[in-house]
Amino acid sequence: MDTHGPKVLAFDLDGTLTQHKSPLSPECRELLMRSRERYKLLMVGAGSCRRIFTQMENFPIQIIGNYGMQFADVEQEASETVLILQSDRKVEVNTELAVARANELRKMLGYFPYKGETIEIHESGMLTFPILGTEASIADKLAYDPDRIKRRKVYAQVRDMFPEYKVYIGGSSSFDIVPHPYAKLHALDLYCRQNRFSHDEVLYFGDDYGLGGNDEDVYLSDIPFQCIDDYHDTPRYLERLL
Ligand SMILES: [Mg+2]
Repeated sequence: MDTHGPKVLAFDLDGTLTQHKSPLSPECRELLMRSRERYKLLMVGAGSCRRIFTQMENFPIQIIGNYGMQFADVEQEASETVLILQSDRKVEVNTELAVARANELRKMLGYFPYKGETIEIHESGMLTFPILGTEASIADKLAYDPDRIKRRKVYAQVRDMFPEYKVYIGGSSSFDIVPHPYAKLHALDLYCRQNRFSHDEVLYFGDDYGLGGNDEDVYLSDIPFQCIDDYHDTPRYLERLL
C-alpha cells in the first residue's frame, strides 16, 4: 500500500462485503459508515446499480454497476437515501449470433441436456451463458461447480467464442459475457480520471481475483488490491484503516 494511504476505498459486493446476494452485516455497515468520514467509498459491481443499492439496504455510497455500464450517486432526501442513475449504457446484441454461439459451445463441450433457454440476453447488452440452461433448479446450479474448476478448464474456449466481449466465470454454473470495453478496471480507471485520483490512491477489495474472476483485471493492474478470501475478514481490514 502507498505510504500516504488510500483516498478511495472501492469494493466488490458478493463474497467481499457480504455473502452472495445477502445484506450487509450490522458490523460491516457500521464500519463502512465510519469509513465514509475518512475516505471516498465506491462500489464496483457486476450487477445493476439498483440491485447493489437494494442489496445494501440503501447504504449511502456511489455505485458503478454492470461493469461500468452504469454509474449512480446516492442522495439524501429528507430521511431517505435515493439512488440517482447518472449513466446507463446499453449495447445492441445480435441475438441470432449469440444463440448460435451458445449452441456451438454446447456441441463442443457436451453441455446437454439443458433446461429453458440456451443463453440469456439482458437489456444492457450483457449475456449470461448458463451451462444448465436458464430454467435449471437452484439446487442443480449450486451443486454444479462450486469450486469453479469445471469452468476454469473450459474458460479459454468460452472466451474465444465471444471475441467482442469479456468473459467471466460468474454465479454458480454460468459465464457472464460483457461487451467491450466494459470491465471493472475500465470503470475504475474512468472514475479515477473523472475524479482526479491516481490509481495508487485507490484500495480495492475483491474476492474473485483468480482466472476468469470478475475482479481479476483489477488484481492484475497497478491499483492496490486487498484480496478477500472470506468476507467475514473484511471488517478487520476496514478497522485497520480507521
Ligand atoms: Mg465477488
